[in-house]
Amino acid sequence: MAQYFKDVWLGTATTFHSMWVTLRHFFRPNNGYTLQYPTQKATLPERSRMRLFNKIEDCIGCGQCARVCPTDCIDIQTEKRGKDEPAIFASDGTAIKLRTFVFDIDMTLCCYCALCTFPCPTHCLVMTPEYEYSVYDKRDHIYHYAVDRPMAAKPAAKEPEAPKA
Ligand code: SF4
Ligand code: SF4
Repeated sequence: MAQYFKDVWLGTATTFHSMWVTLRHFFRPNNGYTLQYPTQKATLPERSRMRLFNKIEDCIGCGQCARVCPTDCIDIQTEKRGKDEPAIFASDGTAIKLRTFVFDIDMTLCCYCALCTFPCPTHCLVMTPEYEYSVYDKRDHIYHYAVDRPMAAKPAAKEPEAPKA
């Protein structure tokens, strides 16, 4: 019987205590933890890991990012650039010898570990502080970065016309 009244007392006391804590905060000004989103935005810590971005112009198609990804969310397809094609370079001077015609990142599979960004030799794959990228269609979370096409899909170069006599 004594235990019963002890439990009732404990339950009542803790209820009033938690209500007292709530009441105290009710009349205090904004404590800095509650944000009026979206008019107020959170200041993220340095090196926050959010949306990935690939500066495709600097990507050499080495595939190191895809190999290290634990969730297999990076899909890269490349082919060798022809010897007769003009030499191109990433902004750090690395020669681009492969044509990257598929570079997709499926952000629905990404676990934001950032492992893919570390081995990138040209530092073109980075995690940005961008965290507002919700979409209505899940397919919109697959980012297609490649802008080039495979050689076979390109229209054949026209034969130069013979000069008229
Ligand atoms: S952050 Fe991690 S899971 Fe996401 S693409 Fe990079 S390696 Fe893969
Ligand atoms: S590691 Fe960097 S350069 Fe290599 S394929 Fe990935 S994004 Fe491109």
